[in-house]
Amino acid sequence: MQKHITCTVCPMSCDVVLELSADGEILSLTGNKCPRGKVYATKEHTAPERTLTSIVKVSGGAHPVLPVRTNKPIPKEKLREGMAVAATIQVQAPVTMGDVIVKDFLGLDVDLVATRDI
Ligand code: SF4
Repeated sequence: MQKHITCTVCPMSCDVVLELSADGEILSLTGNKCPRGKVYATKEHTAPERTLTSIVKVSGGAHPVLPVRTNKPIPKEKLREGMAVAATIQVQAPVTMGDVIVKDFLGLDVDLVATRDI
């Protein structure tokens, strides 16, 4: 079984090809032009992560919502849960870009932070 993963670490966008066993173990990895591609593709195959970006409600400000994101990537399978939790959050203006809205978001040792002033 073969799996293609586009490395996004640099603009070269290498097509990394993983040869996988029937149970998904990586047998070989080719197509990466540097070692960072191996690290990226291995992680993307075994434990993919993404930065969550969302909005939370804000009262007392010039806008009704505040854009937020996690300060580190979180497991991809947690994104849906994170979006649902973010939809329940309400903060009070003023908020400054970089303010921590939720510390240890979802218990994942990442913070949900504001990405603009309101
Ligand atoms: S494998 Fe290396 S050269 Fe290719 S996209 Fe990834 S970081 Fe860039």
